[in-house]
Amino acid sequence: MSLSSVAYVPVNGDIVVMKFGGTSVAAADDIRRAAGRIVAARENGRQVVAVLSARGKTTDDLLNMAHEVSDHPLAREMDMLLSTGERISCALCAMAIHDMGHSAISLTGSQAGIVTDSSHTKARILDVRADRIRDALGDDRIVLVAGFQGVSGDSRDITTLGRGGSDTTAVAIAAALGADVCEIYTDVRGVFSADPRLVPDARLLHVVSFEEMLEMAASGAKVLQLRSVEYARNHEIPIHCRSSFEDGPGTLVVSEKETMERPSVTAVTHADEARVTLTGVRDEPGVAAQIFGALAGANVNVDMIIQNEPVSADQKADLSFTVDPGDLHAATEALDRLEICERLETDERIGKVSIVGAGMRSHPGVAAKVFQTLGDSGINIEMISTSPIKISCVIAAGEVPAAVRALHQAFELGDGAIRREEPTGEEHRPAVRPDEDEDEGRGGA
Ligand code: ADP
Ligand code: ASP
Ligand code: MG
Repeated sequence: MSLSSVAYVPVNGDIVVMKFGGTSVAAADDIRRAAGRIVAARENGRQVVAVLSARGKTTDDLLNMAHEVSDHPLAREMDMLLSTGERISCALCAMAIHDMGHSAISLTGSQAGIVTDSSHTKARILDVRADRIRDALGDDRIVLVAGFQGVSGDSRDITTLGRGGSDTTAVAIAAALGADVCEIYTDVRGVFSADPRLVPDARLLHVVSFEEMLEMAASGAKVLQLRSVEYARNHEIPIHCRSSFEDGPGTLVVSEKETMERPSVTAVTHADEARVTLTGVRDEPGVAAQIFGALAGANVNVDMIIQNEPVSADQKADLSFTVDPGDLHAATEALDRLEICERLETDERIGKVSIVGAGMRSHPGVAAKVFQTLGDSGINIEMISTSPIKISCVIAAGEVPAAVRALHQAFELGDGAIRREEPTGEEHRPAVRPDEDEDEGRGGA
């Protein structure tokens, strides 16, 4: 601990952590807009820590650069490369804030004390040693922290936290500083009943429970990174998700007890996945453990799993599971080494559509309605998985938009539906930035 941190006088409720996503800092005007919001919070008497993402599509561009020079870029070097995007945003924003008459300092994740494990490109935060942030706040400075990155406590190498990881940086810093709330500024007006880019009449949700948001994030609603929601729930940090580009109520993500009674379904989500199918798997104890142990060892998160028992004793089993498309290569490499099946096949891109709702527990018949709706739309279901508050179906990738819209309509989640949330009107206008192409890649890229 540094001397100045010993002298630190605790500050608490006055601290706000504001995170700005990639679209929110893309162009020079966007950086100045974010700087303006940060300065306004400071001038309202709050101490401000702002976490920034890489500008626009910077992270995608950096990934492409790596693949231009290497077929399988080293993960350590990839993190060195990817972490630069967020640093650029922070340095530029600090300059803009200076011009607005305030003192600001930009810090890398490592300088800000974000300590992680060593799993490059998807590291987990182990500790936030925030004394340098506190010192700077104590010196009346605005602190800008590069999101999405940290430093491995073991190897001292730079790590990154997985796509969308700046959300998690922000929540972790909010928890470490005891901030009242973590504000996530993005390119939509909050969390909606479906991706507003796919469903124009999607409804802004004013309050979502951590539990629902976890399921939504896990099933593809990338407006908040899954780990940020886990972290917020574990540390009881409310998240306020709102637009960078306009004022409005946004969405509060809070604990279940603070949310109201729910109808059966809150939102429809969708995601791209990849599928691995193993045929001719030995049918004996311990085989599944070997397969999924190898995948865990390769740091691959498995989503849905289906195993078919052999019909007769002398036959072998089939097993399918889905993973993030980015993990497909690591998954097949790990399984090839095991030599545990007769054939291994992959689908590089399949779709998944899910419905999520805390009220589902007490409303029977929701699953039947999902299957009926997809069936009526001529969409074939290839795999199904459920949790008490979620039903997910794997379908062909090309059928995802139609499936999302059909489910959103069948469960009456849209603008015309009866609402359970209090305010109506203004906030139900189309949700995306008017100047954006719906099919374009967006912030955080
Ligand atoms: P940022 O760069 O600000 O982190 P992201 O691109 O990661 O922003 O997340 C915001 C995007 O999440 C939106 O532009 C929207 O298309 C998408 N999204 C997907 N599902 C939802 C949802 N249910 N509610 C709001 N946004 C959603
Ligand atoms: N820039 C990173 C990404 O594109 C992290 C983030 O935006 O949260 O995933
Ligand atoms: Mg994001």
